[in-house]
Amino acid sequence: FKNDIGVIGMAVMGRNLTLNIASHGYTVSIFNRTPQKTEYIIKNFDNKTILPFFSISGFVNSLKKPRCILLMVQSGKATDNIILKLLSYLSSGDIIIDGGNSFYKDTIRRYYNLLKYNVNFIGAGISGGEYGALYGPSIMPGGNKSAYNFIKPILKSIAAKIGNESCISYIGPDGSGHYVKMVHNGIEYADMQLIAESYSMLRHILNLSNQDISDIFSQWNQGELNSYLIKITKNILKKKDSNGNDLIDCILDQADTKGTGEWACKEALELHEPLTLITMSVFSRYISVLKLQRILASNILLGPRNHCIIHNQSEFIEKIRQSLYLGKIISYSQGFSQLSHASQKYHWNLKYSNIAKIFRSGCIIQARFLNKIVEAYKYDNTTMNLLLSPYFQELANKYQNTLRQVVSDSIQYGVAIPVFSSAISYYDSYRTSFSSANLIQAQRDYFGAHTYKRYDQDGVFHTNWSSY
Ligand code: NDP
Repeated sequence: FKNDIGVIGMAVMGRNLTLNIASHGYTVSIFNRTPQKTEYIIKNFDNKTILPFFSISGFVNSLKKPRCILLMVQSGKATDNIILKLLSYLSSGDIIIDGGNSFYKDTIRRYYNLLKYNVNFIGAGISGGEYGALYGPSIMPGGNKSAYNFIKPILKSIAAKIGNESCISYIGPDGSGHYVKMVHNGIEYADMQLIAESYSMLRHILNLSNQDISDIFSQWNQGELNSYLIKITKNILKKKDSNGNDLIDCILDQADTKGTGEWACKEALELHEPLTLITMSVFSRYISVLKLQRILASNILLGPRNHCIIHNQSEFIEKIRQSLYLGKIISYSQGFSQLSHASQKYHWNLKYSNIAKIFRSGCIIQARFLNKIVEAYKYDNTTMNLLLSPYFQELANKYQNTLRQVVSDSIQYGVAIPVFSSAISYYDSYRTSFSSANLIQAQRDYFGAHTYKRYDQDGVFHTNWSSY
């Protein structure tokens, strides 16, 4: 008897995905470098369809051919090590699925390297954290399409559902699945930062209590902003610690990063893509870590002398809501624009409506408004920027003035809102038909003879600027 699939890596994600797969009637072989984690699963979860293995050869030999092996190990060297160990036991046509957060360039390298051995490699972004892994993640597989079709029934069965649709869709060739996951994580950074800045304005400008702010998020979750992140924020703000204090007030204000957000920014630089909101979200986490400097600076550097006064509290709360929605839209416009740029560069032929569809459940950025992105790209997959599509342009035109006011009020209060400010700056830069870059070109030509082009004449020009 041979098993349907094997999973390597029995930390939280691998373990929960294994339980999810087994709960759908598949037999699963499991392996982990440290045997205790494998033993823990067998001892603690009564499931006869999960079979433990303590050697790679035993694990590989326990699988039906072509073998399907899901890797859920640390990205980077660990993934390469495991692939190397597996290779000597695999046969032509076997399929390795890397469900870890691998860098897409590593996935491209592994894909073409394994092709030499006739081993199929699927780089699958998996989002949803430990809960998603157990009850239904969003899955973004890239690689050989026929290999994907072979493993599709298993992956489809474990993916999150929205109605009768599964949150999984073939993304495209080689590293495309992991690229989409990387941008997804970047978008997650900006979503979180925009929510945190909204909380900061409600707290520091309106002086509302955590309970009040939780109630506001709860209301917001009923409308355009309905999403997983708004829902968990509402819950977080209500949570008490064992002493009955608001837990949120006891949590140190230093946010970590794990890498995928930074990758998205580096890729933006490589593609010359203005991914300003995600990048500013990453920088905001870096500033948050400078706690000692911030404490020092708070005693040295002055804030605004006079505050404007917010006269109408409920009106200001509604303005923050509208700004949060527009900020989110601008962030997704940038993220999807980057996907489209990468798709052209790597010839991935990405289908953005399918990508937005699989984000609608199971993953951290799941939100009602993704339906609007699905519609926009279904109507036109070549849309250059979501802000130019009918629904989003109408919304931007309706809310842009509010975003402007909220940013200006917060600046006058001295409350930091780096990503809201980036949103309105990008918006204004993007809608400017005559920018100030003419002066930049002139300066470049002045000091470096970099040349410039003219509106009124064809060709490339250089001026001797010092002769008046
Ligand atoms: P970790 O990222 O903490 O990785 C731990 C696993 O990797 C363990 O099984 C560990 O084995 C194994 N491992 C580490 N180094 C090696 C090595 N050199 N050789 C063999 N195995 C090794 O676990 P998670 O469950 O959190 O994540 C698994 C993957 O899924 C990662 O790539 C992660 O980025 C990704 N991911 C995680 C999410 C999350 O919310 N945690 C969400 C989405 C994706 P051992 O027990 O022997 O140390």
